[in-house]
Amino acid sequence: MSNKIVGIDLGTTFSAIAILDTIGNPEILPDLKNNKITASAVYLSSNNESKVGSEALSAIKAEPNRVITEIKRHMRDEVVYSLKEGKWIEKSFDQKLEDEFTPAQLSSKILEKLKNFSENIDKAVITVPAMFANNARQATIDAAKMAGLSGYESDVVELINEPTAAIFHYANLPGVSISGKVMVVDLGGGTFDVTIAEVNGKKVDVIHSEGNPNLGGKDFDRILLEFMSNQYKEQLGAELSIDDVEYLLQAEELKKVLSSRESHGIILDGPNGPSKKIEISRTQFNDLSVNLIEAIKLKMESCVRKSKLHKDDITQILLVGGSTRMPCVVDAIKQVMGKEPTKGVNVDEAVASGAALYAGTITDKSNLNEAQKEAMSKIDLSDVANHYFGTLAQTLDEERQKYFQYNSIIIEKGSKLPVAKTNQYSLIQDQDGFPATVTQSDGPTENKEFVHIIAQERVDIKDGKKDDEIQITFSYDKSQIMHCTFEHVASGKKHEIQIKSKSSEEVDEAQKEMKNFTID
Ligand code: AMP
Repeated sequence: MSNKIVGIDLGTTFSAIAILDTIGNPEILPDLKNNKITASAVYLSSNNESKVGSEALSAIKAEPNRVITEIKRHMRDEVVYSLKEGKWIEKSFDQKLEDEFTPAQLSSKILEKLKNFSENIDKAVITVPAMFANNARQATIDAAKMAGLSGYESDVVELINEPTAAIFHYANLPGVSISGKVMVVDLGGGTFDVTIAEVNGKKVDVIHSEGNPNLGGKDFDRILLEFMSNQYKEQLGAELSIDDVEYLLQAEELKKVLSSRESHGIILDGPNGPSKKIEISRTQFNDLSVNLIEAIKLKMESCVRKSKLHKDDITQILLVGGSTRMPCVVDAIKQVMGKEPTKGVNVDEAVASGAALYAGTITDKSNLNEAQKEAMSKIDLSDVANHYFGTLAQTLDEERQKYFQYNSIIIEKGSKLPVAKTNQYSLIQDQDGFPATVTQSDGPTENKEFVHIIAQERVDIKDGKKDDEIQITFSYDKSQIMHCTFEHVASGKKHEIQIKSKSSEEVDEAQKEMKNFTID
């Protein structure tokens, strides 16, 4: 039995495996050549050998039919890859042929390769897109089984959503604390995903996720290549081949440099002619990328809208994927969301690292040494208040010169726990007592008809005078217990009500009980 704590990012184009080190830090395991990422490509030779990663890709020229890439895109489909036909075909109801392989079988080869980067790895947490359908999740579990991987909590490997893994990664960074509604923006080489999740302690619920499977860093490379080729043609009258891999790699390099420099130049060697230096500024690059950036902005706006939220409800924006290093992406996020995203250094390792951390939190504690246990306890994912809490107060309707009762919110939904808030009210007339009311609501409403009264008790005071201050303090602790104190400041009389967080059924029950309770 091994006690290695491992997370795997099984990606469309690249995959990575992270392991918790002896002090509980996630570390990406490199392959023998010290590469931290492995191309998600599988080569199946005619004599039943398989190769994964760059070795598989290098067989493309000689045997293109036998190299399978982008397997993840097919995980939910009823298809098999046919070596004979060199493509994905519909799974037939008759028996599967020997040279046909399911997406799960092919993925298992990638998992096997990653598993062998270190000895004795037999358990793992594997990440999947938040939007992955059930059958795609099942296919991932099947692939893990075939690769000899089981889970930490049961025999079946655990899956977590990629944005959830990213949240764990960020919650582990020094000085970063995550709570409430969080947006994860993931822009990799070929795909874009934006997710809004609700974090409540180690419970992460995805509210909405959407994306574009055909938008990523590669599109920005293409735009730069077009620019390079146009410049070359304008100045030398000769064509560059847009499909030349070498030029594409140069464009990608130029793009990366423009992430840290305001402008940059590269020497282009013409295919049959002279070399030419091409210069481009970051501003020019941003102008050329305007349509891609617009598509990114629209997806973020749509994700907020479909989550039925306002952008101000989002407490943090977390960046994942190498392409979020581009300043134009960060600027677009700031423009749409009105706040600065939280940046990590290793945006491309966030998903695998987060999965390893998640594995650390679910594994039996006896598998962890003291330092690892301590590290796991420091992952700062905070509980939040899951309702609005307030009290019923009265205010004067100036026009009608009449007082009416309204719900006055004291603790906002989503407030990070523990939280304590004090509000001041005053008596509207001389009186010898007042009702201490605690309300709970799903929305930020002032309308008393839309709230649940979860507690109401009478507070007797001596000699209460009009305008006397009533101080109400709600303090909500980490165990989701709320202490409500109602104080008549002039006499020092304090009344305390303690409320445990209630389930919806309990709230309904409490509501029924309150029906017979009348207010003066
Ligand atoms: P990932 O799939 O997360 O590994 O992201 C890969 C993509 O990130 C590729 O398109 C890279 O060109 C891009 N990328 C990596 N570093 C940078 C950088 N410094 N600036 C711009 N793009 C980058």
